[in-house]
Amino acid sequence: MIKEDKCPICEYIFEDCQCRFGGTAHPDRNKRARVIADHIYLLTDKQIKHLKKVQKWWSISYGDKEMCQILKELESKCGCSVVKSWNERHPPKPKTIYKKLKLTDDDI
Ligand SMILES: [Zn+2]
Repeated sequence: MIKEDKCPICEYIFEDCQCRFGGTAHPDRNKRARVIADHIYLLTDKQIKHLKKVQKWWSISYGDKEMCQILKELESKCGCSVVKSWNERHPPKPKTIYKKLKLTDDDI
């Protein structure tokens, strides 16, 4: 049984949730996250609320065309500002910083 006041993915208390952080220093929780996303009916309302926050942090995108299309549909139906646009997910390179450091795109 999953504890109500803990993130269902990393199992830390909500305030200490590790899901925002990725990289090699953190365990790969992709499989766990996928199973949880497929079975949200097993979660408490608090955990579902937390999961929504985690999924917003992640902004998951797909390599599969059909899945991308479904996501696009959902985003347009949602119409809420929390859904990030493509540009927000893929911010342009901070060219001004490169200029200050006298770097070009080839250096990056
Ligand atoms: Zn977590």
